[in-house]
Amino acid sequence: MDERVTTTEEGPTKKSTVTAKPPPLEVHDLTVAYHRRPVLWDIDFAVPKGRLVGIIGPNGSGKTTLVKACLGLVPLASGWVRCFGKQPSEQRKRVGYVPQRESVDWDFPIDAIDVVMMGRYGGLGWFRKPGSKERKIAGECLRKVGMADYAKRQISQLSGGQQQRVFLARALAQRSDLYLMDEPFQGVDAATETAIVGLLNDIKAQGKTVLCVHHDLQTVTEYFDWVLLLNMRQIVFGPTEEVFTNENLRRTYGGRLNIISDVADAVARKLPDKSKDKWTG
Ligand code: ADP
Repeated sequence: MDERVTTTEEGPTKKSTVTAKPPPLEVHDLTVAYHRRPVLWDIDFAVPKGRLVGIIGPNGSGKTTLVKACLGLVPLASGWVRCFGKQPSEQRKRVGYVPQRESVDWDFPIDAIDVVMMGRYGGLGWFRKPGSKERKIAGECLRKVGMADYAKRQISQLSGGQQQRVFLARALAQRSDLYLMDEPFQGVDAATETAIVGLLNDIKAQGKTVLCVHHDLQTVTEYFDWVLLLNMRQIVFGPTEEVFTNENLRRTYGGRLNIISDVADAVARKLPDKSKDKWTG
């Protein structure tokens, strides 16, 4: 039987013997500071299972910092993060991470297939070397991202879009239940972008959960069913069609009205009729 979970300042606690599995990701009253200067605060949300969530906000608004906080890679000044009810450090196998492409040394001399195999190490245990089964899984993941022909190519000899596909294959090889991706669409060509969107939807169809830092406001309603709007503090979190409104974009991006009205027009064209009032009213 499932156990009811309530949240407190210290973290989720089990209360009685009914209902609710912990959500894939829960962030409570989070503050993160660098050199004692807060860069994120008032962050409080829980991501339901099986959602594609866009993390949206201007440059420097704390998107990468939030992703790192959710992975346990930066210290928290206050609040807490839980992945499936546990500390991020206890859930390494269940959480896949695709870092920003710029943050990776692509000159490191390693083949694409070996990068993908690295995604499998967490599942191998300490004393086992990857064998043919691991290689087969890695090859399958490369195939899923359209990179099977490049398995033995050094990563430095791949284009930006191909490198990004290899990184996605590596995350897929982990067979995680929750994925955190930092700008997976950054610097990729249209074909790769389409491939990544397909992949995200496949992952979602398997009941898994994905959070993506995303820059392009024009594609938000098409790609993500939930969004977190962020500008150092949480502006809003919820289903895209409810919270991705002109007003909330203004609160997130401040005075950059040209961008906002362009996006509003683009989004209004894509939304179903019942939602158009939000944009044209
Ligand atoms: P975004 O991903 O939205 O562009 P970041 O999370 O990268 O924002 O950065 C948020 C703020 O934190 C920025 O002001 C940035 O300069 C600062 N920052 C990011 N990383 C560090 C760091 N390692 N040390 C000090 N300040 C940092």
